[in-house]
Amino acid sequence: MTTATRLGKESANLLSELIRFNTTNPPGDELACAKYLTDWLGERGLTTEVAEFAPNRASGMAYLAGDRDEKPLLVMGHLDVVPVGDLSKWTRDPFGGEIADGCVWGRGAIDCKGVLVAQAVALAEMARNGETTGRPVRLLATADEEVGGSLGIQWLLDNRPEWTDCWLCVTEGGGDIFSFGEQKFAGFMVGEKGQLQVSFTARGEQGHASLPPKEIAAYTLGEVLRRLEQLPPRYRLMDSNRSLLDLLIPDLNIKTQADWEGIFQLIESTLPGAAIFVKALYTDTISPTMLQASSKINILPGEAKLTCDCRLLPGTEPAELLGVFKELVSDLPVEVVDEGSHPASLSAVDSPAVSVIRRLMEQWEPGTELVPTLCQAATDSRQMRWAGYDSYGYVPFPASHDPLRTKQRVHGIDERIELDTLTAMTVRTLDYIRELRKV
Ligand SMILES: [Zn+2]
Repeated sequence: MTTATRLGKESANLLSELIRFNTTNPPGDELACAKYLTDWLGERGLTTEVAEFAPNRASGMAYLAGDRDEKPLLVMGHLDVVPVGDLSKWTRDPFGGEIADGCVWGRGAIDCKGVLVAQAVALAEMARNGETTGRPVRLLATADEEVGGSLGIQWLLDNRPEWTDCWLCVTEGGGDIFSFGEQKFAGFMVGEKGQLQVSFTARGEQGHASLPPKEIAAYTLGEVLRRLEQLPPRYRLMDSNRSLLDLLIPDLNIKTQADWEGIFQLIESTLPGAAIFVKALYTDTISPTMLQASSKINILPGEAKLTCDCRLLPGTEPAELLGVFKELVSDLPVEVVDEGSHPASLSAVDSPAVSVIRRLMEQWEPGTELVPTLCQAATDSRQMRWAGYDSYGYVPFPASHDPLRTKQRVHGIDERIELDTLTAMTVRTLDYIRELRKV
């Protein structure tokens, strides 16, 4: 049996076990899963600990010593999973952990127990081989990521700072290999967008619908919507997002708004459906999502409220965009309120993690470029970055793993991972941990 085959089997079996713990969040219930994983790693020679922060809830830690007195490389994944959704649509039990049809099946198979298992099996292999040269390595299996991580990674940063203190961190996000014409590339997530939830409340005269007054809140809100729709996108090219366009567009030269629109048209015609994703990497987005006014057809409401979900590029402070909105509607009877916001997070783009994995990519997938990019969604990386650590989203998927599969299955129906994919992920995770330890 080759090493890859052996590691792949070990990963499939461990993943199958972890999926059987129902860690749907809420409520999470990660304790038993954290204990199983840390016991498994403890039996293989790692130092482990479980941090129980609430009844039945915990994060886990495993540590592999190195011979250098330096901060550890941190690898991290989360134990909790999102709800299964419509159970009747699942082909197999989402918590059965079945190994069938060339896959390991169940909620969390990719997001994120599969990632965690690749890291755990890699660490176990190094412990088994007595690999102590280089930096120490720590693995964190966090709770609570799927609902924002305040009881998971944030709790660990606040209560177990010795667990989170690291040289740099690699966790989920990124790594899917995309084809664009002749180009092949994989994203390496160096940052995540921030968020501004903003409400616009228009005032009007409340009254009977049979006697419409001059000031009608809904019409004012309509004007707000019209102005928001016409607000030109503020496209921005930065170190954290320019590699992708440099790769996709030969002789990139953007001067005007029309140049940007031309680029997105070109991307859409080459890869239909891609422009919407790419565009979101280059501008703050504004999405009107909730509208509230009267609860009865014959009552004119005294106020009408619009709420927007805005996602912000690094460099856009929530307060700055709030100021833009206030200015935009300053002549209208409208109140603009920040209903919840956080800034974007960003790690160093020029990192050894990027250069090491780029070099490995030449062996793993010749011809595939590693491009530092931003993540439109949120992971545990952002709290690590806010705490001052460089944290990166990268999963070493092989080219055979269709990125559409990740998209459909993660948080979707019939989440599962191909055994080939899991084997490659495990072998490559071992590769990059070994190489990063040497830096
Ligand atoms: Zn996840």
